[in-house]
Amino acid sequence: QKIVIVGGVAGGATAAARLRRLNEQAEIVLFEKGEYISFANCGLPYYIGGTIPQRDKLLLQSVEGMSKKFNMDIRNLSEVIRIDRANKKVVIKDLRTNNEYEESYDKLILSPGAKPIKPAIPGIEDANNLFTLRNIPDTDKIKSHVDTNNIKKAVVIGGGFIGLEMAENLVDLGIDVSLIEASNQVMAPLDSEMAAMVHEHLVQKGVTLHLGDGVQSFEANGTKVNVTSGAHVDTDMIILSIGVTPENTLAKDADLALGVRGTIVVNEHLQTEDEDIYAIGDAIQVTDYVNGTPTMIPLAWPANRQGRLVADHINGLQATYNGTMGTAIAKVFDLTVASTGNNEKTLQRLNIPYRAIHIHPVSHAGYYPGGAPIALKLLFDEQTGRILGAQAVGKTGVDKRIDVIATAMKGNLTVHDLQDLELAYAPPYSSAKDPVNMAGYVAG
Ligand code: FAD
Repeated sequence: QKIVIVGGVAGGATAAARLRRLNEQAEIVLFEKGEYISFANCGLPYYIGGTIPQRDKLLLQSVEGMSKKFNMDIRNLSEVIRIDRANKKVVIKDLRTNNEYEESYDKLILSPGAKPIKPAIPGIEDANNLFTLRNIPDTDKIKSHVDTNNIKKAVVIGGGFIGLEMAENLVDLGIDVSLIEASNQVMAPLDSEMAAMVHEHLVQKGVTLHLGDGVQSFEANGTKVNVTSGAHVDTDMIILSIGVTPENTLAKDADLALGVRGTIVVNEHLQTEDEDIYAIGDAIQVTDYVNGTPTMIPLAWPANRQGRLVADHINGLQATYNGTMGTAIAKVFDLTVASTGNNEKTLQRLNIPYRAIHIHPVSHAGYYPGGAPIALKLLFDEQTGRILGAQAVGKTGVDKRIDVIATAMKGNLTVHDLQDLELAYAPPYSSAKDPVNMAGYVAG
């Protein structure tokens, strides 16, 4: 069997490795249009900020290393430009030579990811100090701009995960950062009262916040950013991080169905309309685990999980993707901000009945040094006890509480079961009544 994979990072590389582990005979060919495969996207902001000092730590596998280790044919700088479904072939453009050639497949896996949204804002074409961040070349460009131009001021546009991580890392480099966000809060997965804590912390750390204020235009080669309120911000560089859009050209040209925001539609086995073509990762439409609606959730866990499942399915194993809950976490300076499931905004929009509780327990025994309050919000269905979502903001212990709740949700535990979770306790880590237990007690 010959399996061709498009995209060699999170989803694609995972699928390739699992395919080889399951079948020593299969012919596996992986195409990546960039120079690098299997790099640590999520580490890129921390390399720019200096927390990760060595560039090569971002490169998890090399083309040669992975080809050899897994006995597969990996071709970088090779863009798949067309799918010929009728003849089960793909057309590849070798970006070194511009030559085009064909490769046949029995099964095709698309893991092309999503690219940064870059709208046609007036002046954007002339803004030669404007960057987006997706891959290693983007990272190199940003780092060299910062290192060689004595950057004093930066504007980050968009208060999502990447925007906030970039804001922190630029502040770490001694740069004065302004964050411009069109909606009235950062971090869309949070409800506004939770995001307010993040706003306060950002301001404390010296970030100038422009909330509810979109970018109207760029002037003077991007050194002046005009916002809709009429104000302007002078800057030496701009990071544009207002979200991503699926890489759907191949699928679209091959007449495969597209769904929400142009994502590739797949079934529960991650097959597109064409059963020999699978699609995974940021580019696909997933089902929201809590409310059942179709959505796009571009995160690394789903891409990895789907990569594994696709390899299982191709090898005849039981493999069903159960939807995405959107469990996510970010470090914002001294805070950890995490969430899982649906927020109140989403539940209201879909008219799903819920009750919300807020608690503020200390992360571990108050008498042991280093504890700090965690603001924990839990959303659940009062009739059935079903947990619908949770959000937490705090300095320590946030990650495990959200992970425990996410686990409870996947295991179909109710809010009442949270009282009865027997969780690890010693004073440096928790209290005999863990914050998750307390949420269960408060929920009743
Ligand atoms: P990718 O990993 O983007 O891989 C797709 C690859 O396909 C790309 O390398 C692309 O060049 C290649 N490709 C596309 N089209 C073609 C073609 N036609 N031919 C050949 N190759 C092609 N997620 C988290 O959960 N936590 C985090 O902390 C986090 N931090 C992030 C920080 C940054 C800066 C970025 C950019 C992303 C971050 N993410 C994070 C998101 C995470 O990286 C993605 O969800 C994940 O990489 C998606 O995997 P994928 O395989 O769908 O796409």
